[in-house]
Amino acid sequence: MYVELGGPKIERHFELVRVKPEKEIEDGKITLIGPDIMDMEVGSRHPIGILVEVSGPELEEDLEAVFERRVHEFCNFVNGIMHLNQRYTNWMRFSKTAVEKGFNSFQMLGTVLIRLYKAELPIIKKAQVTFYTDPDKIKEPYDFALSIYSKRDERARSINDDDVDMFYGCVLCQSFAPTHACCITPNRMSLCGSISWFDARAAARVDPKGPLFEVPMGETINKEAGEYSGINEMIKKRSLGEINRIYLYSGMEFPHTSCGCFEAIDFLIPETGAGHGIIDRSYDGVAINGLPFSAMANQTGGGKQMPGFNGISIQYIISPKFQIYDATQIGLKSGIELVVWMGKTVKDRVYEFLPEDIRDKIATEEDVADLSDLPAWLEKVGHPIVETEEYKAAVGGIEEVEEEWEEEGAMVPMGTVGMTIPGVGGAGGFKVILKNCKIHAESIIIKKIEPKRKKK
Ligand code: SF4
Repeated sequence: MYVELGGPKIERHFELVRVKPEKEIEDGKITLIGPDIMDMEVGSRHPIGILVEVSGPELEEDLEAVFERRVHEFCNFVNGIMHLNQRYTNWMRFSKTAVEKGFNSFQMLGTVLIRLYKAELPIIKKAQVTFYTDPDKIKEPYDFALSIYSKRDERARSINDDDVDMFYGCVLCQSFAPTHACCITPNRMSLCGSISWFDARAAARVDPKGPLFEVPMGETINKEAGEYSGINEMIKKRSLGEINRIYLYSGMEFPHTSCGCFEAIDFLIPETGAGHGIIDRSYDGVAINGLPFSAMANQTGGGKQMPGFNGISIQYIISPKFQIYDATQIGLKSGIELVVWMGKTVKDRVYEFLPEDIRDKIATEEDVADLSDLPAWLEKVGHPIVETEEYKAAVGGIEEVEEEWEEEGAMVPMGTVGMTIPGVGGAGGFKVILKNCKIHAESIIIKKIEPKRKKK
């Protein structure tokens, strides 16, 4: 790596696209505020702000978010540049090879962006780009970008799935995750958090052959789970037959696929029965299950359908449909009642939108750092999960297994994980698929989960 720009270790960074009147754009203009690549020390980290301003007679504000998402794609076209994520989580690296070969200035990156925007999206007639790398001067445009993102999110929250008769899909991330396609509905924002239903609709209208497209709902197969024949047909076609069914509102059964751009991960915490945890990209540490975001992201991403690990947008956490299917299966009334632990970074972002009767019952790392302390904390605050049979069985089950090992005097080998598979024993059975997987285990114990027995 020659330099790193943005990313989790840098406080302020962003990328933003704005549609402007023609007279405010100087076509081809590239401005740099701060040091250029060639002035940066090898191995150093810097802020990065990318402001792309475009004009054209057919452009409308709804297209800004969709254009903005193309920064990711266009930067990655450059040999030797890595670009990840979006909005205020963007993260770039320039390789030493690219810089040694002469790609050492933002002038070049700006030229690439302007030419690609105009070539790939001919409705853009003029474009100019401003880069910010100065840690002080980035503050104002960064705050402005945050205000635009919140305005977009607020609008996205104003409609529900029942208000529309068309959903949308996006395959922009298939270059990284070939079997992934996002299905975007009013209640399930794209998992990168940057394309709402409004944005997808605008993009599909102006560029129907582009990466965003209409998805007719078709027949409603299961409304609560969010299963529609139109979405199943779309994912089957777009994943080349790899995936056949999607429950939009479940993290456990036929969950939505995840590429690698998700803002957050919703993960099962088997030790609480059916309880979920949520961690976001900016969380710096290990989650309650002992894993950092990066390790869970490896498990979650790549276009797989991974029950128990679901890549999501932060807006989806506050959607009325958030994992509603999983919640109602165990007698809870909303998906947020499943959530027993959240990283503080993500909880702070959604706190004001969470129902008052639940928000202080969701632990963060400041309340509970060790998984073994979580059940006691949940019981103390009266979290609704503790009333479920799944919780009671899981908490009792862990005690029983520990007791049995103690009785036999067996050693618990390093790396052994006690795991509950939800739904085991229920009607219809279950399917376990292990692909390209190497496992070494001295033994595997599969136990039926019995109702809780009192430990002596
Ligand atoms: S995460 Fe989904 S909506 Fe966002 S760019 Fe990728 S495929 Fe498109």
